Amino acid sequence: MLKLYNTATKSLETFSPKDPKNVKIYTCGPTVYSSPHLGNFSAYIYWDLLLRVLKANGFSLRRVLNLTDVGHLTSDEDSGEDKLEKGAKREGKTVWEIADYYISSFKSDFKKLNLLEPAVWARATDYIEESKSLVEKLNKNGFLYETSDGLYFDTSKFPTYADFARLDLKNQKAGARVDFSSEKRNSSDFAVWKFIKPGETHAMRWDFLGRPGYPGWHLECSAIIHKELGEPIDIHAGGIDHIPVHHTNEIAQTSGAFSKKLAHFWLHCNFLKINGEKISKSLGNIITLKDLEEKGFSPFDFKLWLFQGHYRSERNFTISDLESAKVRRKNWINKLVLLYQLPESELPAPLEGFQDSVLSLLNNDLNSSSAFALIDEKSPLLSLDDWKFLDSLFALDLFVKDRTPALLLKIRQRNTAREKKNFATADKIRDELLSEGVSLLDSSDKTFWQLA
Ligand SMILES: [Zn+2]
Repeated sequence: MLKLYNTATKSLETFSPKDPKNVKIYTCGPTVYSSPHLGNFSAYIYWDLLLRVLKANGFSLRRVLNLTDVGHLTSDEDSGEDKLEKGAKREGKTVWEIADYYISSFKSDFKKLNLLEPAVWARATDYIEESKSLVEKLNKNGFLYETSDGLYFDTSKFPTYADFARLDLKNQKAGARVDFSSEKRNSSDFAVWKFIKPGETHAMRWDFLGRPGYPGWHLECSAIIHKELGEPIDIHAGGIDHIPVHHTNEIAQTSGAFSKKLAHFWLHCNFLKINGEKISKSLGNIITLKDLEEKGFSPFDFKLWLFQGHYRSERNFTISDLESAKVRRKNWINKLVLLYQLPESELPAPLEGFQDSVLSLLNNDLNSSSAFALIDEKSPLLSLDDWKFLDSLFALDLFVKDRTPALLLKIRQRNTAREKKNFATADKIRDELLSEGVSLLDSSDKTFWQLA
């Protein structure tokens, strides 16, 4: 039985979707204007574990992930520059080129981490018609008002607006939100559609209500969910920073337009810090997957490091902790590598109860760190089937089997050289292998290889 912590009710709840053969999941995706850093990727990695655990429990999934290529301003509220326009200026490209480039780079990082691809990669600009019709519905239902820069959602007309995030709107009115436009009726009101004023250079623009404009950032998620999944969905996931503004606004929009609940379960992952500090450009502590690879780490080392903690806990990333994660992953691979080299008659059978125990630990709100402790303890006894099961859950690229034939050939060449007392050649082969990251263990009658 899978239990997940539901932010909406602040409690651990049994996950029992209405249709186990069509579990509807939406995960908020990136704004595609720069390279994602480790903090951005941590969410997609945690949600990948969620998807795999759901599958292991026998559910069939339909997951949609959005790609924000318009409307997200540098502030999560409705002020500042459009992030895509900012990226275009920085790189001397068009906004469309920026979006295309960062979408394809995001997708290739996704592959690199072996994350399950969504059923739909939903690019916000492909849902403009749906977004407009959502605005029209909200307008018709009396939730919107017009200011000089756009159409705003009047949050005072949605009495439960503050409930999801337990917002203290009274204090917000006192000025907690910094960019309180004087035309806004309530500080928590937000733009669903922004107008482009004459002379403004916003490149992405669509005619709507007789003038050019573009959708507000929060709108796309409600529009995409309505089109691709249909409310209510089973799970909506994102970062905890989405709770007070973005997800609260999504709920208000969907409810205001369709009078429907948006999602049954809301899952939120916590922040990632780097050396105890918040990740920010100004601190210069942004690390990308590419940076880790240049330092000799595999993206899977980072993934394993992340699963050593819990998605709801704040995590502190350090290179030395990543080193330990790398060693742990190598030790697991070496257990598997030894199995490849055993004759079939000596291969162990699946360890009784092991796979069920791992799944039941994960079924407790994705408790991967406890599952990892069990793997360490049982690793010498695990079978190929057990490792395959683990790989289906964590996708840590533990199977490096393709290296085996070439390595076995080299080991044979070395052993022949040793038999002929040609130790110089034998040592040369051994050193070559070591430089490729492979060490050899000689037993009385056989030589085994493993990762050095
Ligand atoms: Zn969203």
